[in-house]
Amino acid sequence: MSSPEIPKSHPRYESLLTRHRIEAGVDRGITSKQGLIAQGRGEAFDYLLGEETIDSAEEAERVAAAHLLRADHPVLSVNGNVAALTPREIVELAEATGSDIEVNLFNRTEGRIERIVEHLREHGASDIKGKTADGRIPGLDHERAKVDADGIGAADVVLVPLEDGDRAEALASMGKTELVIDLNPMSRSAQSAAVPIVDNLIRAIPNMTEHARSLADADGDELDSIVDSFDPKTALSDAERRIREE
Ligand code: ATP
Ligand code: MG
Repeated sequence: MSSPEIPKSHPRYESLLTRHRIEAGVDRGITSKQGLIAQGRGEAFDYLLGEETIDSAEEAERVAAAHLLRADHPVLSVNGNVAALTPREIVELAEATGSDIEVNLFNRTEGRIERIVEHLREHGASDIKGKTADGRIPGLDHERAKVDADGIGAADVVLVPLEDGDRAEALASMGKTELVIDLNPMSRSAQSAAVPIVDNLIRAIPNMTEHARSLADADGDELDSIVDSFDPKTALSDAERRIREE
């Protein structure tokens, strides 16, 4: 979607376009009001990162792609911000990595799930999980704990962009390999991830797809060595240094 009011020559075109998409997501009932606030926090961190993908995030995106490719049952979790910002891009990543898509909301309402599923279908997705909600994440209250038993419930690797800190920690304690996209390296979500990707969703998802495509012919040993060489603490401290010092 483009916005007629934002000229492409505007120095912060991408940022304004993102804001516009989130606003449209709220208007259409796919993004929550909390999602608007999260967007504002994300923008502040992105500004401090120079609104670009830093090298350590690029590496994390490649590692995350390798994790998805070698997983038995990878799932991409989609919330209202992801649906508003990168609907087509998430479908492409699912195709490039053989992942399932599950709609999973912090502020869960059946209506919003339904609208997001429909929105993703319009962008090419089929077979979207999240409506059955017959599985539970241990340690969370009822509504927040709901997942599909054959989706996130059965996944070995889960991509959770912009996940709430509590849920990110609970998923990690279930033994799942968690890949988190979050612009705040100090957020508990980023801290609990096996692979924290400190980058804007709108850059991170297409980058992961590109990496997945170029790793499509890699054998198991190569994927293992990419995954094993990664240190989440180094990635987080590099991002934090960029925000504080440069
Ligand atoms: P916690 O420490 O519990 O994780 P929090 O303040 O991070 O608390 P969240 O609900 O996880 O609470 O906040 C949403 C997170 O999403 C913020 O850290 C924000 O920086 C991040 N975020 C928002 N928009 C984007 C985006 N487009 N791309 C990547 N990250 C984003
Ligand atoms: Mg967080």
